[in-house]
Amino acid sequence: IVSKLPQVGTTIFTVMSQLAVEHSAVNLGQGFPDFPMDGQLTDLVNKAMKNGFNQYAHMHGYMPLREKIAEKAGKLYGAVVKPDAEITITPGGTYALYTALTTTLVPGDEVIVFEPAYDSYVPAIELNGAVPVFISLRYPDYAVPWEEVREKITPRTRMIMINTPHNPTGSVLSAADMEQLQAITEGTNIIIVSDEVYEHLIFDNIQHQSILRYPALRERSFVCFSFGKTYHCTGWKLGYCIAPEDFTTEFRKVHQFNCFSAHTPVQVALAEFLQYEEAYLSLGLFLQHKRDYFQQLMLKTPFKALPSYGSYFQCFSYAHLSEEGDRAFAERLVREAGVATIPVSAFYSKGEDNKVLRLCFAKKATTLESAAKRLSDFK
Ligand code: PMP
Ligand code: GLN
Repeated sequence: IVSKLPQVGTTIFTVMSQLAVEHSAVNLGQGFPDFPMDGQLTDLVNKAMKNGFNQYAHMHGYMPLREKIAEKAGKLYGAVVKPDAEITITPGGTYALYTALTTTLVPGDEVIVFEPAYDSYVPAIELNGAVPVFISLRYPDYAVPWEEVREKITPRTRMIMINTPHNPTGSVLSAADMEQLQAITEGTNIIIVSDEVYEHLIFDNIQHQSILRYPALRERSFVCFSFGKTYHCTGWKLGYCIAPEDFTTEFRKVHQFNCFSAHTPVQVALAEFLQYEEAYLSLGLFLQHKRDYFQQLMLKTPFKALPSYGSYFQCFSYAHLSEEGDRAFAERLVREAGVATIPVSAFYSKGEDNKVLRLCFAKKATTLESAAKRLSDFK
């Protein structure tokens, strides 16, 4: 067959997790927690299954869950969201993003993508025949160069993708960034796809700048979320998309013939669990403590921390240690130090390499200690 993605190999997450297994390494590469999720939530899934919630869910998602999500969006972001017409539950955040792109892009459309970019974005753009227009976030603070965004907008610009808190860098967008985005897109047909899967993983009392806070942006946006990040259950693959009614109508046309509906018992359980606000409101501080502990442990290693304000990732520079490219360096680190990381060049189309590695700190203290110990012995 003719490959539709000739440039694409196996995702870096799978590559590094596989290497971690082969070398019995501590895996701080792929982003997932190694501590247990909340037992109350797994009990609720069992209860839903026992109570017979085992058949297809509503195509748009289990209504009580959509109602709870709308309530939460109202409380947190002051948004008025219609559960019937503006929320669709999806099998994961990646799927929500992909569906938003498939719903809107036609061949030749241009999509502005900030790099480093989460690795599903560009293949999703290309599979839809659209053209990614790359803009590098400014190293080392990974800020958005808004002047460049203005310059790169053409009559074919159909979409801008944003991600805050940001994977892989842990940077976050500020209110000033959102104002820039609003000014740039005002009076245009540009659609925004906002990846907010790390909405609650934000530190240092910074407020998450959801698109949902900005009515003028919200009316042109698909906003995508993931329960996997919020409840420490990345394997559940459940998320959702909030978008205005006309966008959602089209989104659902694609969704209905792709997977039709998402996992029923998990939706039923989440509809009940969402009432415990503390579970997501406490997440930022919980992970902030992990970030701080990890940063402190890493002071004993030769690696230099870049700032992380959100997500569960912390980037480290090794530029002062080696001339090696980050992929080769990361592979050597697995083999020689027994620690798996993600080379950040994997998130750039042209492999831009600032000699930075991404490490995931959503791990038990003992895991972080063991990784830092191994890295401090690394020569
Ligand atoms: N976007 C970003 C930036 C992510 O890091 C992830 C995590 N995998 C996702 C989307 C996808 O989430 P999900 O696992 O729910 O598909
Ligand atoms: N989002 C996770 C990460 O960035 C992994 C997701 C995946 O493996 N596709 O590490």
